[in-house]
Amino acid sequence: MERSVKKLKLITSVETLKQAIVLHKSNLDRTIIHQRDERLAETSDNEEFRTRTTLEDSDDQELHLEELLSEFEENCAARGGDSIVFYTTSIGGVRKTFEDCRKVRFLLENHKVSFRERDISMNCEFKEELWKLLGKKVTPPRLFIKCRYIGGAEEVVALNENGKLKKLLEGISSAVRSRRCDRCENERFLMCWNCNGRSRVVAEDGMWKRCKECNENGLVKCALCT
Ligand SMILES: [Zn+2]
Ligand SMILES: [Zn+2]
Repeated sequence: MERSVKKLKLITSVETLKQAIVLHKSNLDRTIIHQRDERLAETSDNEEFRTRTTLEDSDDQELHLEELLSEFEENCAARGGDSIVFYTTSIGGVRKTFEDCRKVRFLLENHKVSFRERDISMNCEFKEELWKLLGKKVTPPRLFIKCRYIGGAEEVVALNENGKLKKLLEGISSAVRSRRCDRCENERFLMCWNCNGRSRVVAEDGMWKRCKECNENGLVKCALCT
C-alpha cells in the first residue's frame, strides 16, 4: 500500500512536472510570438515612415523642379516633350562654336542622361528648325530640356556649376546611348534607301531630281536618336 502511494505520488509529480513544462513552453511560445509581433509592428511602422518620408522628399523635389523649370522660357522642340534636345554641329568651322558644342555634350554625357542630338551640319532641316524655335539665326550649341529653352554653352556651364543642371535633368531617362542604337549604330543618320545616299534620283523624264526621302547629304535621320 505504502509503495503504491509512493508510486502514485511519483506519477502525480511527474505529471505535474510534465504539465508545468507544457505550460512553461506555451508561455515561452507566447512570449516569442508576442515579441516577434512587436518586432513586425516596429518594422512595418518604420517602413511606413520610410515610404512617407520618401514621398515627401519626392514631392519636395517635384516642387523645386517645377519652380526651376518655370524660370525658363517655354519652347518645345519637336519630340522634345519630356526629354532633352541638343542642337549641335560636328563641323569645326568656327572654333568657338565647335568647342562650345563639345562642352555641352561633355556635360550631358557626364550626367549620364539620354538626349536627342540634332547636328545642324548634317542636316539643314535641323538648322531651320532651331532658327524657327528661337526666332533668329542662332549658332549651336542650344539646349532644350522638357520643353524649355535652357540656353547655349555659357548658360549650361553656369547651371552645371550651381547644381541646377542636375536638378533640371531629374527624371530624364539614363543614357541609352551607352547602348548601341539598333537602327543607326549611334551615327544618328542612316544612308537613304531611296537614292542610296546620292540625294538625287532619276525622274520619269530621265532627269536627275532631288530625292524627297533624305537630306542634302543623302542621309535620313534616325528617329530614335534625333
Ligand atoms: Zn539611332
Ligand atoms: Zn535619298
